[in-house]
Amino acid sequence: MKILAIGRNYVNHAKELNNPVPQEPVVFMMPDSALLKNNNDFYYPDFTKDIHHEIELVVKISRVGKNIPLEFAHRYYEEIGLGIDFTARDIQAECKKKGLPWEKAKSFDGAAPISRFVSKDKFQNVNQLNFSLDVNENRVQTGNTSNMIFPIDYLISYLSQYFTLKIGDLIYTGTPEGVGPVKIGDHLYAELEGEKMLDFNVR
Ligand code: MG
Repeated sequence: MKILAIGRNYVNHAKELNNPVPQEPVVFMMPDSALLKNNNDFYYPDFTKDIHHEIELVVKISRVGKNIPLEFAHRYYEEIGLGIDFTARDIQAECKKKGLPWEKAKSFDGAAPISRFVSKDKFQNVNQLNFSLDVNENRVQTGNTSNMIFPIDYLISYLSQYFTLKIGDLIYTGTPEGVGPVKIGDHLYAELEGEKMLDFNVR
């Protein structure tokens, strides 16, 4: 399986990092070795001194698709969850400065904690979901999927022009504002519409 991830999909997050608001989705990929499941501990890697949290809604692809028309995109996923797109911001800054790819900053082992998945049918409207991240019992990020620049169906249709989507592929849909550093000993806790989804520690 593959993980597709979207950068700068919320206006206020693009602004907080002094990035332009994109005209089309910013896309990068992560290997399956980036996934961190079952609320396992995240081990702070040695190669960075500035890991940031980015809480994101994650979509799990349920059908194979290529060149999916926008109006059919909703048929290509059944379940959603929450994930964190851990980012080595110091390494990313170097990559951006040199115009290099972001994988070392974004796609390292354990960079993508993932929650359990829930049926999208539980919710009235997937384009109006609240989610949040707490660090050490302080709420640091709140998001609502209505604030995505490129909504879920658009992302599915757009990505499928370039990459055949396969069953089990994940799309990390971008983070709202409020990103910030984590440190060893921190406790991270995330909710989707008030339900616990992520609950783990940084070691
Ligand atoms: Mg992100």
